Amino acid sequence: MIPNEIYAQALKQWGKPMQVIIALEEMSELAKELTKNLRGKENVPEVCEEIADVEIMLGQMRAVFDEENQIDIMRDKKLMRLEDMLQKNPSASDVVNRRTGT
Ligand SMILES: [Mg+2]
Repeated sequence: MIPNEIYAQALKQWGKPMQVIIALEEMSELAKELTKNLRGKENVPEVCEEIADVEIMLGQMRAVFDEENQIDIMRDKKLMRLEDMLQKNPSASDVVNRRTGT
């Protein structure tokens, strides 16, 4: 079975609200593992597992919310903006300051 068919089956079987809840839970689990990693825990397998979980749930969220292929269009625009930022090569603090307005 291809991923999009599995996503559609999961949404049909458990419904959109439950799958949105699971997506939020999986993103939280990834955030927890990334935080542990930054604090020095050697948990790369756990981080990778949670990335896989999040990717699966994002596939389902895409199936729910992306009716007009907006995600790919937005991602391409944002990637172009990121590429432009990288070419201008500001320091990390410049990026943070620009985002926070400081
Ligand atoms: Mg998980």
